[in-house]
Amino acid sequence: MATQEIFDIAIIGAGPGGYVAAIKASQNGKKVALIDKGPFGGTCLNVGCIPTKTLLSNALVLNKVKHAADFGITTGPISFDFSHMKTRKDNVIQSIRKSLEGLIQSNGITIFRGSAEFLSPKELKVKGESNCVIQAEKIIIATGSEPLDVPSFPCDHKKILNSTSILELTTLPKTLAIIGGGYIGCEFASLYAELGVKVIILEALPSIVALQGKAIADHLTSVFKKQGIEIRTNVFVESVDTSAGVSVRLKDGSAISCDAVLVSVGRKIHSKDLGLEKAGVLTSEKGPIPVNEKMETNVPGIYAIGDVTGKAMLAHVASHQGLIAAANACGQEATMHYNAVPAVIFTNPEIATVGLTLEQALEAGHNAALGKFPFQALGKAIASLETGGFAQVVIDKKTHQILGAQVIGSEASVLIAEMALAISNELTLECVTDTIHAHPTLAEAWLEAALISNETPIHFPPKIKRT
Ligand SMILES: Cc1cc2nc3c(=O)[nH]c(=O)nc-3n(C[C@H](O)[C@H](O)[C@H](O)COP(=O)(O)OP(=O)(O)OC[C@H]3O[C@@H](n4cnc5c(N)ncnc54)[C@H](O)[C@@H]3O)c2cc1C
Repeated sequence: MATQEIFDIAIIGAGPGGYVAAIKASQNGKKVALIDKGPFGGTCLNVGCIPTKTLLSNALVLNKVKHAADFGITTGPISFDFSHMKTRKDNVIQSIRKSLEGLIQSNGITIFRGSAEFLSPKELKVKGESNCVIQAEKIIIATGSEPLDVPSFPCDHKKILNSTSILELTTLPKTLAIIGGGYIGCEFASLYAELGVKVIILEALPSIVALQGKAIADHLTSVFKKQGIEIRTNVFVESVDTSAGVSVRLKDGSAISCDAVLVSVGRKIHSKDLGLEKAGVLTSEKGPIPVNEKMETNVPGIYAIGDVTGKAMLAHVASHQGLIAAANACGQEATMHYNAVPAVIFTNPEIATVGLTLEQALEAGHNAALGKFPFQALGKAIASLETGGFAQVVIDKKTHQILGAQVIGSEASVLIAEMALAISNELTLECVTDTIHAHPTLAEAWLEAALISNETPIHFPPKIKRT
C-alpha cells in the first residue's frame, strides 16, 4: 500500500511557478511538498527560456564577430561548431538544474518525483520514482503547458519539429520553414538565420509579432527581411508532406520546399489527467484553470498558477503568481495584477514591452500621447554601432502617468526594467525626466522619449523649428 505523507501545502509542478511558490510557502514556516514528473525547472529551464537564450547568445557573439571589421578588428575566416553550441546549452541547463535542486532542498522543501493526480480536494496520489498519497491543507497546481500539435501536420520530431525537439538538433537544416510568427517562432528565426539557415516564416495573421503593436512589428519585419528571412503573412498551412524532402502545402494551392519545419503555433495547457473532477476544480473549454485575483480556483484552498491558468504565459508571470498563491495559501492577503507585465522577445534586435501600446491606451479611453526616440540619436548607440531601433513611451496627457513602453534594439531586455518599475508604481513622465540617467547609456532613450511625449525634447529637433 502507498505510504501516506502529510503536508501544509503541496505543489504540483516544479517550473518557475511551482518552485517559487514552494520557497515562499516554506519561508512562511509551512511544511511543503513539491512534486514533478519531469526534470525540475519545468519548461523554462529545460526546453524554454534558458536553452533558447543560451543558443541565442551564441548567435549574438557570431554576429559581433561577423561585424568585427566595422570596429577595426581583423579576423580570419569565421566558422562555428553547432554541435558544440548544443552541448554548451545542455551543460548550462544541467548546471542551473543542480543549483535549483540544491536551493529547493536548502529551503527544507520535500521533493517527490512522479506524476500527481487528485484523489480528493486535499489528497494527491503520486506515481513514479516516488509512490505515495499526499495529504495537504492547501494545494497549488503549477503544471504548465507543452507545444501544441496540429492534427493535419503532427510533429514527427525529425522533419516536423516543435520548440522542444528543435533544441535537440546537432546539425543545421539548409532551409527551415517556421509555422507561426509569434515570439517563439521569431526567436528561432533569428537564431537560425544568424547561423546561415534560410528561414521562411509562415504567419496566418497580417503581421509577425502582431501582439507587440504595429511600430514594433513593422520594424522587426524590415530588419528580418534585411537579414534574409522570408516572411509570408496571411498564409494558412494545410499540410506538410515529408515523403520526399519536406513540402509545406498552403491553402492557396502553392507549396514551399524545405529541409525541416518548426511548428510554433501555441501551447497546450496541462490540465487533463490531473483528476481535477475528483477535487471539483473546473477548467474552461480549452483547458486553462480559471482563478481569481488571489490565484484561487473555484475550490477554496486549491490554487493554480503559471501557464496552466492561460494568462500571460511567461516564466516571470508564473513566478509572481506563485508568490501571490503561496502568500494567500499561508493565510496572508495578496492580489495579482497584470498592468505592468514586461514581455521580451530575444530576437536580434531584441524587443521589450510593458503596459499599453498607444492603440490600447486610446481604446481604453485615455487621452494618450506617444514619445518616440530613435537609437540613431543616442551617443552610446552610435559609439557601439547599435543605432537600429527606438524606445517609445505612452502617456496620459492629462495626468502624465506612464501607461506603456515599447523598445526595439540592443539591450531592450535590460532597458524595459525601468519602465516596468515606472508603470507598476504609477509614475508620471516627470518621475523619469527628473531622474538623472547616466551618460552615455542606452537608458537615456527613456529620458528623451518621456521628454518628447511632453513636446520638450533636448536631443531631438522640436516638432516646429524655433526661429
Ligand atoms: C521555446 C520557449 C521559449 C521561452 N522563452 C521564454 C522567455 O524567454 N521568457 C519567459 O518569461 N518565458 C519564456 N517561455 C515561457 C515559459 O517557459 C513558461 O511560461 C514557464 O515555464 C511557465 O512556468 P510554469 O511553472 O507555469 O510551468 P512549466 O515551466 O511548464 O512547469 C510545469 C511543470 O509541471 C510538471 N507537471 C505537469 N503535470 C504534472 C503532473 N501531473 N504531476 C507532476 N508534475 C507535473 C512538468 O513536468 C513541469 O516540470 C518560453 C517557452 C518556450 C516553449
